[in-house]
Amino acid sequence: MENKKNKTKNKTRFQPGLYKTLTWHFIKNTLTGKKRFPLVLMLEPTHRCNLACMGCDRIRTAAEGDLPVSACLEAARECGAPVVAITGGEPMIYKYLQPLVKGLLSEGKYIYLCTNGVLAQEFIESFTPHPALTLNFHLDGLDTTHDKITGLPGSFNKAVESIRKAKAKGFRVSTNTTVYKASDPGELEGLFDLLYSSSVDGMLISPAFAYQSVEDNIFFNRGEINEKFTRMSGFLKKYPLINTPTYMDFLCGRRQMRCTPWGNPTYNPLGWKSPCYLVTDSYFPSYARMMKETNWSLYEDGKDPRCANCMVHGGYETTVMRMAFTNPLEGLRLAFWNFGSNNKKR
Ligand code: SF4
Repeated sequence: MENKKNKTKNKTRFQPGLYKTLTWHFIKNTLTGKKRFPLVLMLEPTHRCNLACMGCDRIRTAAEGDLPVSACLEAARECGAPVVAITGGEPMIYKYLQPLVKGLLSEGKYIYLCTNGVLAQEFIESFTPHPALTLNFHLDGLDTTHDKITGLPGSFNKAVESIRKAKAKGFRVSTNTTVYKASDPGELEGLFDLLYSSSVDGMLISPAFAYQSVEDNIFFNRGEINEKFTRMSGFLKKYPLINTPTYMDFLCGRRQMRCTPWGNPTYNPLGWKSPCYLVTDSYFPSYARMMKETNWSLYEDGKDPRCANCMVHGGYETTVMRMAFTNPLEGLRLAFWNFGSNNKKR
């Protein structure tokens, strides 16, 4: 049965409860003198996937076997991040997805369940929407482009159908779009119009990361990223973007920022990935060892050559959050942006 109470559109970019939880998380960690603490756990219970996308690193470096639910919950407890992004691989083919989501919700976590949307319908039909659960669909263009990137004809239509079903049932829904060197801004505007008319609650847009495992020349450098995002910044204002305005300034080249590589630690069947979601140098058996044994300053200061063209949200949105909790002007900017109207025309 449809959850009518949840069918109304969300008025803020992030749930007020999440905002409160993050504020408390910052206060608690700052008071206890912690310099580095995570905001979002990137949890990859499986690397298996039903697609073979063009710019994906995981299908090229995939781990064998899936994580048990108990290991996932223990990882979430161990690192203490208030938000968990369940990603992969494709989480919809992870056999224990529902117990995992229920377990994380019962521990008070906010969840972003990331999916390509092709196999999402069974989950949508059988799971009850929860205010702390957001279904996050990945779409990189309109049908022809998206299907070319995923390698599966019809994958775009399936994802859009899943988005509409999820919204109709009362799920909180967001989308994630990776921008490549060849992405056409006009086409992306068409995609966002379509997602907007499907009442999605938030849209995230991020430049692709140049994975070493991906040989195709589909990635761009910082100058090209600045140029593309500046071109798009006019029309992006129309949509409920969940990129913060400070991160958008960074993407457009209007300000410089340092990365926070430890803000989004990644856990998968190989262990705790170091140094970040994008670069893999080593795996550790525990979160504590990963934090202790990684040379963070190398990445915070952008000294590693692989960071040179990286502007991916995972590394920099945490920096924005840290700035908001240490600089009152940045904090006000973030609060106005989050609590300002998210649905002016809807
Ligand atoms: S700049 Fe990018 S690649 Fe480098 S540590 Fe940060 S997130 Fe990772």
